[in-house]
Amino acid sequence: MNVIYEPKGRAREYSELACNLYRGCTHGCRYCYAPSCMRTSADKWHAKAEPREKVLEMLEKDASRLRGDSRRVLFCFLSDPYQPIERQERLTRRALEIVARNELRSQILTKGSADLILEDLDLMKQSGTELGVTLCFSDDETRKAWEPNASTVMDRLSVLRIAHQAGIHTWVSLEPVIDPIQALEVIRTAHGFVDFWKVGKLNHMKDIESQIDWRKFLIEAKRLLDSVGADYYVKDDLRRYGL
Ligand code: SF4
Repeated sequence: MNVIYEPKGRAREYSELACNLYRGCTHGCRYCYAPSCMRTSADKWHAKAEPREKVLEMLEKDASRLRGDSRRVLFCFLSDPYQPIERQERLTRRALEIVARNELRSQILTKGSADLILEDLDLMKQSGTELGVTLCFSDDETRKAWEPNASTVMDRLSVLRIAHQAGIHTWVSLEPVIDPIQALEVIRTAHGFVDFWKVGKLNHMKDIESQIDWRKFLIEAKRLLDSVGADYYVKDDLRRYGL
């Protein structure tokens, strides 16, 4: 079994290669799609996280097989690489070392603890890792309601700022947009220290999706991003509202 895999569908718009280090994710986001991908319940997936069996051993093999491939490996889609268990396991740090040793490029996607992420900035800098943070809310009470055990809005902003100052390529996953006003506020607040934006709509929650004027949000987001000279990508399912 390969642990570095080629994502399909919407995930493919984020990365051509990815690797999931943990099984389970204790951040407990309400919009999480991982349980349905893994054919389990949200309660089970969010109750605990554990290292995937022999994941680093398998990563060594895959990284060696792919040595020198120009595609970036994203950590992680189905769990957060900097959730609390990372404090004991340090799988993410070791995984970044493995891919760098095999001349592979990497990127992180997280809403995890600032202290853990900051400990790895030296490694990210050395290996050219791109640091992506999911940030869809400007108000921390709303964030808490949707992403109860993830890091605060302030923490995420501060990680992005520090990483950017350290010369690391930073990007924000502005997805899933749930509150368009807050999403626009995130752009206004963070554009000075975010190198790239990926913008995407909420999916799989029809009741909420149907209340949002996606065309209006798309126009406003693009206008704002253009006005601050931002580099960005609008995901397919949002882009089609501009047709
Ligand atoms: S961080 Fe990602 S994988 Fe973890 S609960 Fe939230 S959406 Fe799911």
